[in-house]
Amino acid sequence: MLLFTPGPTPVPESVRLAMATPTLHHRTAEFESIFKETRRLLFGLMKTDEVLMLASSGTGAMEASVTNLCKDTLLSINSGKFGERFTKIAKASGLKSIEITHDWDTAVSVEEVLDTLKAHSSIDAIAMQISESAGGLRHPVEEIAKAVKALYPHIMIIADGITAVGVEPIDVTHIDCLIAGSQKALMLPPGLSILGLSHKAIETIGEGKGYYFNLASEMKKQQQNTTAYTAPTTLIMGLKAVLEEVESKGGIELLYSQTALRAKATRRALEALGLHSYPHSPAKCMTTIDDSDAQAIRDILKSTFSVNVAGGQDHLKGKIFRINQMGLIEPYEIVWVVNAIELVLAKLGRRDFDGTASRVFNEVYFNTMLGVN
Ligand SMILES: *Cc1c(COP(=O)(O)O)cnc(C)c1O
Repeated sequence: MLLFTPGPTPVPESVRLAMATPTLHHRTAEFESIFKETRRLLFGLMKTDEVLMLASSGTGAMEASVTNLCKDTLLSINSGKFGERFTKIAKASGLKSIEITHDWDTAVSVEEVLDTLKAHSSIDAIAMQISESAGGLRHPVEEIAKAVKALYPHIMIIADGITAVGVEPIDVTHIDCLIAGSQKALMLPPGLSILGLSHKAIETIGEGKGYYFNLASEMKKQQQNTTAYTAPTTLIMGLKAVLEEVESKGGIELLYSQTALRAKATRRALEALGLHSYPHSPAKCMTTIDDSDAQAIRDILKSTFSVNVAGGQDHLKGKIFRINQMGLIEPYEIVWVVNAIELVLAKLGRRDFDGTASRVFNEVYFNTMLGVN
């Protein structure tokens, strides 16, 4: 079965093997040197002033960022399930919250954010997804961060990059907190989250907030290459192996360009079959198609062609399917996926099979690789 869900994503063999070594005690020089090297590699990925690793799923880092960086009112951008989650976290943490809500195919604009800030002077943090995984949507986070900081330098910008870090280069100049998670673009099993912080965020954190998710106490320890509580040693060894694997495959910049090209070629191939790309501004982490046969397409893909793609959640259940683009994916795998989708459409009687999908994918992908067009 080809796992093509946008999280969890397949774990490379070298990484699985690195995690199969005997368990290390976390308070040892041996583990501290692994931690130190992982931190060094992470700084290269995140490009932020500080990085922290937490033993939690991505939502833990979302909560930690909100409770440590927001003191009064959180503005969150809800174009899907994960944006909505920031509002729920603010409410559960006793913070005030304001939400800009959109359909799941529609990104927020810079103007809307600025208008909302003008109307609500108590907002001291903004949380948004770089890629909203619910519909495969890209928000213009960097532009928003830049515009906000020009007018309100004190407002903390929290960017959930769980499906963006490791997918595309992110300009962190105006971002205070960048979040990543293990089981999506980082090709690891679930259970590790990462926070990249700006100097300004570190100032704002001060003494920190809460107990387990107190970022000040965590930071103090991690700067000494250890953790406040028991470290997720196996996942950290896995993360080190992932970052080394990416290096050995040509580096992160190459992965970014391959991912962008793969996402573009996939979308073009599926559009050539008459399928429709759901989000108005597609993210590079996944290809999302809305279709009245979405459920049947997924079922047949799995049962007949050994391809597992994700469906939609809530009101989009049965209405969309989502194909992962995150991680080290071989072109021959994704070519099979688009070809299988074309075969499914033939089975459903929607169009005759003529190899369009793989031809278009190959033209877009390999012509760009060869420098044609
Ligand atoms: C998956 C995901 C999360 C939540 O992460 P968990 O690891 O499930 O807690 C948050 N944000 C985005 C954009 C995601 O895709």
